[in-house]
Amino acid sequence: MQLDVTSLPGDGIGPEVTSQAIRVLDGVAARFGHELSIDEKEIGGAALKQFGNPLPDSTLQACLRSKAVLLGAVGSPEFDRNSRNLRPETGLLRLRRELGAFANLRPAVLYESLANRSPLREEVVRGTDILIVRELLGGLYFGEPRSINESTGATVATNTMTYTEPEIERIARIGFQLARTRRRQLLSVDKANVLECSRLWREVVTRVGQHFPEVQLAHMYVDSAAMLLVLKPSSFDVILTENMFGDILSDQAGGVVGSLGLLASASVGGLVGLYEPVHGSAPDIAGQGVANPLGAILSVAMMLRHTFGLHKEAECVEAGVVAALKAGFRTRDLAGASERTVSTDEMGNQILQFVSDGAARD
Ligand code: NAD
Repeated sequence: MQLDVTSLPGDGIGPEVTSQAIRVLDGVAARFGHELSIDEKEIGGAALKQFGNPLPDSTLQACLRSKAVLLGAVGSPEFDRNSRNLRPETGLLRLRRELGAFANLRPAVLYESLANRSPLREEVVRGTDILIVRELLGGLYFGEPRSINESTGATVATNTMTYTEPEIERIARIGFQLARTRRRQLLSVDKANVLECSRLWREVVTRVGQHFPEVQLAHMYVDSAAMLLVLKPSSFDVILTENMFGDILSDQAGGVVGSLGLLASASVGGLVGLYEPVHGSAPDIAGQGVANPLGAILSVAMMLRHTFGLHKEAECVEAGVVAALKAGFRTRDLAGASERTVSTDEMGNQILQFVSDGAARD
C-alpha cells in the first residue's frame, strides 16, 4: 500500500518524538512491504519563525494532499505574549478545523509492567483501559464571540461555549460505534446541572444511544468523573465528552497510567486523519534527548489502524511498545529512582528493532 503522510514536527520535543515515530513507520513499511512517502512541513512556532504564520498555506495544502498527518507538538514560551492569530496553538486549532477532524480518540491503557509507576496503588489502577472520545471542533475552544476587552476600566475576557445538535450527534455516533467494538459501556460526561450546552448534549446522546441498544449508556457530571478517574480508573470503558472536558480528563488519565508521554491520539471523521501524542511541546525538557517518544510511536499505530486499515501492522507497533516496557526500557518520565533510563533515540531503537526483527520471529 502507498502510505502518503505529512509530518509536522512542530516545536519543543515535537521534532524529537516525531523523528522516532517516523523511523518506526519506515520500519513497518519495510517489513510489511508498503511504500512510505513523507512530506515534512512546518507548523506552530517553527512556522511562525519561518513564515510569520502558525499554519502556512504550504503546510495546509500538503496535509490536504496526504492520507494522514503526524504531528509532534506546538507551543513555546517565546510566543506566549503573541496575539491570538500569531500563537503556535492557533495553527493547530486551525489545522484541526480545516481537516474537519471532529472526533479525537485518546486511549489510556495501563501497561502491566508500569503498574508500579502510577501514582495510584497498583490494585486500584490495574486493568485500566479507557478510550476517551473527545469532541474536537466545538465548545469553548472555537465558540464566538471571544475577546479580551481592555478599554473600559477592569479588563473583561469572554469565551463562548456553543454546541449544535448535529455536532453532538456525529460525535455520539462515533462513541457508540467504538464502544460496540470494546466492552460496550459508554459514559457520557457533561455538566448538565449547570450548562445549557450540556443539557442538549445529554438529550442528544440519549437519543443516539437508542440506536445502539447493545451499548450500556450512563451519564455523569464532569466533576464526579474526574474524581472517579482517580478512585476507580478501571471502571471506565469509553468516555464520550465535549472538547474542554476531554482535554482535561485525558491529561488526568495520562497521569493515572504513569505518564503523559505514553498517550497517543487520533483525530478522525474529516478529510484527512490527524495523529499526535497527547502531550505538548514540553519546553522544560526540549533538546535534552530525554523525551518519551512512545506517545508519538503509538500515534503511528493508530494511524496504521484508522487511516490505512492495517491492523496487523498497528498491532506489531503496539506489541513492540509492550515488549520494550516489559524488558525494562524506561525514558526518564517512566523510571523509578533506582531504574536505568534510556534516551529518546534508544527507546525508538527498541521499537524499531522489534518491528524489523518480526520477520525473523514469523
Ligand atoms: P506539556 O504536555 O508540554 O508538558 C507537561 C509536563 O509533562 C512537563 O513536565 C513535560 O516535561 C512532561 N512531558 C510532556 N510530554 C512528555 C514526554 N513525551 N516525555 C516526557 N515528559 C513529557 O504541557 P505544558 O507544559 O502545559 O505545555 C507546554 C507547551 O505545549 C505550551 O506552549 C502548550 O500550549 C503546548 N501544548 C501543545 C499541545 C499540542 O501541540 N497538541 C498540547 C498541550 C500543550
